Amino acid sequence: MNHIRQQERPELLLKAISVAYQTAFRIQNGRTMPHTTIVITPQTNIQALVAELPIAADVLTQFGLGCSGCGVSKYETLEQGAAAHGLRIDPIIAALTQARLSGFVPLIASDDKVPTPRAPRPFGMRANIKYIVPVMSGKGGVGKSLVTAMLAVGLRRKHLRVGILDADITGPSIPKLFGLRQPLLLEVDPSAPKTANGNPQPLMVPAISRSAIEIVSSNLLTDKEDTAMVWRGPIVSGVIRQFYEQVLWSDLDVLLIDLPPGTSDAPLTVLQSLSIDGVVLVTMPQALATMIVRKAANLIHQLKKPILGVVENMSYFIAPDTGARYDVFGPSYADRVSELSEAPLFARIPIDSRKAELADEGRVEEIDDAICDTLADALMASLAAHPKPQEVISLL
Ligand code: ADP
Repeated sequence: MNHIRQQERPELLLKAISVAYQTAFRIQNGRTMPHTTIVITPQTNIQALVAELPIAADVLTQFGLGCSGCGVSKYETLEQGAAAHGLRIDPIIAALTQARLSGFVPLIASDDKVPTPRAPRPFGMRANIKYIVPVMSGKGGVGKSLVTAMLAVGLRRKHLRVGILDADITGPSIPKLFGLRQPLLLEVDPSAPKTANGNPQPLMVPAISRSAIEIVSSNLLTDKEDTAMVWRGPIVSGVIRQFYEQVLWSDLDVLLIDLPPGTSDAPLTVLQSLSIDGVVLVTMPQALATMIVRKAANLIHQLKKPILGVVENMSYFIAPDTGARYDVFGPSYADRVSELSEAPLFARIPIDSRKAELADEGRVEEIDDAICDTLADALMASLAAHPKPQEVISLL
């Protein structure tokens, strides 16, 4: 009877086959495809897309856009993410569309996964960097590197192009905070004079974090091959100069320099020759802070540059269970420090175990805290309040 009916209504038979096929397909794939309505365009927000279509995270990871899992994705569109990583948007849209239809991450041509290579520019006019801002502290362990990283994350969330030059060779922790381990790549600068032993001048390609922050650090150097030649016996000022001059930085809005702790004038002498825009000072509550700031302020004053702002880190602790506030390291000196350095207080950052945890795990970009935005906004406002001559700054 059934048989006869199906013969009479062939469209029903076709429908039944199609449903059976789709069901089998799903079982075979071992996953149920969500019914999404989200439209995949260059303007689609990354986080919204991943929330509706989880496979999008796998596709984006294939393209090296791991930022689908970090805080930046909240603010970034596919186009912005692609641009930040130097990738073409069309293959990304095509792969996402295909993944949505099939439930699989499609094969991606290796050419589409790598950023369009940047040809080294002639030595001496390599990158245009709008603002150069060293971050310093009177002593180690106050959280200078973490503050530098959070500042960078906040700036990226404003879609600014950001680099970090990790000059803290006493404890280079920036790559660790961003989960970077691969040694820096070297490229030959064809236009530069040869080195003393007749080798071509190597240039370093910065590491790129998941949210496309460019990072250079002595932690990302290998003692193999020609790198040893470049980095043998580094001293602080030499390192800063080399990281500055022999690195293929992209054009950046802000280059942050994580200085070694202390107020020795060695790094500051180097900074004299770089066109810095001012310094951010990181302190923590301690009586010594005011003394250190006086010293730092004097040194920076000699450079005729402003202190752009002060950050008091580990300022206090809020107990998560009771909400009670504790001044763990004693009373705050933030206002006094800000007054002495004639600079605004950017923020007072509490002790927060979650931040320390993410930092420890190399997931600093996942710190989804308004403090990153506060720091970035305050820095940009302070830079705007200290205008500089309208020259374009080139490296060297
Ligand atoms: P510095 O660069 O000044 O030597 P780091 O940034 O390396 O200091 O920080 C030292 C340690 O303190 C790190 O383990 C870091 O995760 C932790 N830390 C920094 N700031 C905070 C904070 N506000 N809350 C909790 N831990 C912090």
